[in-house]
Amino acid sequence: MDVFLTKKETLKCSVCNKPIALGEAFVAESEKHKGTCFSCSQYVNATFLKPGNAALTRRSKKHSSYCGVVFVWNRRRKRFERRGQYVEADAIRKAELECAADAKDRALKNEKAAIRRAEQDKVYIAEFSKAIRRFYPNCPKNREVAIAQHACEKHSGRVGRTAKAKEFDKKMIDLAVEAHIRHAETNYDHQFGTGKTKRAIRSDIKPFVISTMRKWGG
Ligand SMILES: [Zn+2]
Repeated sequence: MDVFLTKKETLKCSVCNKPIALGEAFVAESEKHKGTCFSCSQYVNATFLKPGNAALTRRSKKHSSYCGVVFVWNRRRKRFERRGQYVEADAIRKAELECAADAKDRALKNEKAAIRRAEQDKVYIAEFSKAIRRFYPNCPKNREVAIAQHACEKHSGRVGRTAKAKEFDKKMIDLAVEAHIRHAETNYDHQFGTGKTKRAIRSDIKPFVISTMRKWGG
């Protein structure tokens, strides 16, 4: 039995015989079946669980010996839609406990995942730094770490975080070093908004970037 906030004007309670007004609760298998008003129904002492929490809805239904789903007619969509359910109060309490226990698990899982990600980031940065240092042995001290950190942020969540030094290809390293030199060793970033195109700015600093890469490359 479900609870229909009826769209009909002709329904009557089969127990007390009272007419059921439009939009009032009609408890039956469907609006086409015989049914009762809410006061005469089995749900008169049940607890209403409002909609919006799928896990709570599912679990409280599972724990309750009955479940009366409330349906309201959506005129625009021409269909009944769920608007909560009547179940045993104990069932809701059990379901709430289960959901609370789950929430803790989920929070813990997220926390562990964040720690794992941070560890993977550390490995990634260390390995990428080593690879940069190998190809650019004359790059200033610790600069390889700054470059690797930036690359790690830039590719956050997109790169394989178990990356080994040998998996970083030369092109990837060159691009990271080139971008770093452009931003850290030239006035590239300050030339925007001066009327010059990005292309012109890049073209102007290119010789310096290339010579610096050669110098760092040894
Ligand atoms: Zn009745």
